[in-house]
Amino acid sequence: MQNPENAAANEILCVKHVRRGFNKSQDELLVLDDVNLTLSENEIVGLLGRSGSGKSTLLRIIAGLIKPTGGTVTYRGESLQGPAEGVAMVFQTFALFPWLTVLQNVEAGLEALGVNPQERRKRALAAIDLIGLDGFENAYPRELSGGMRQRVGFARALVVDPTLLLMDEPFSALDVLTAETLRTDLLDLWNEGQLKIKSVLIVTHNIEEAVFMCDRILVLSSNPGRVVAEIKVPFAHPRNRLDPAFRRLVD
Ligand code: ADP
Ligand code: MG
Repeated sequence: MQNPENAAANEILCVKHVRRGFNKSQDELLVLDDVNLTLSENEIVGLLGRSGSGKSTLLRIIAGLIKPTGGTVTYRGESLQGPAEGVAMVFQTFALFPWLTVLQNVEAGLEALGVNPQERRKRALAAIDLIGLDGFENAYPRELSGGMRQRVGFARALVVDPTLLLMDEPFSALDVLTAETLRTDLLDLWNEGQLKIKSVLIVTHNIEEAVFMCDRILVLSSNPGRVVAEIKVPFAHPRNRLDPAFRRLVD
């Protein structure tokens, strides 16, 4: 029987009245004030907003990396009190450990989950293979191009088999063609059923990218950051946009 307290059975994430400041009392000069949003299963949602509006802060809160000053974050019906299993994040500038190899960087994604070393290696190698980095296991980040480094960032996120993937301007440090390839590869993997991801929240400054990738786009205001607009993208689901039949329709 469905629990009436549980808003919607297919709800993955619910952010309610979230507030966050960075001054001493953490409650004045708010960066985020009364942010509300929900993500349902099978949705890719974009988050747009000016620099400094608090997009990265919001993603960090959802990832459990920092705490909100007020409000609640609910992930799959449970109140979130820190990093949750099944939530992974990809960062704009990759955030790799420069002193670790590709394989070690990807294994690091599993450390917090207490996976044994043998299993860790197996899963890391599978993620590396999936994202097209096979042969680069022992390379260091400095030996890789930007696109390859971000592939490591994706492998480190995907290795935990996330349900919810958070992406903070994942393609904005890459040139246009590299970004396009990586975006398409990611949607392809999802399309082929290779990912367990049920929902994606992506921060981007690129409207074209948002329209291509998202079902819905949320706009965050500045000073304070608050969701002030929601745009539904009137196309097929992004997962289906690579389908040749759909391509013929829109080309
Ligand atoms: P966006 O990602 O939208 O560009 P951010 O979330 O990075 O915005 O930052 C929003 C605001 O919060 C900025 O004014 C930034 O200076 C401030 N801020 C973010 N993180 C910190 C921090 N750790 N300490 C102090 N101020 C911060
Ligand atoms: Mg940011």
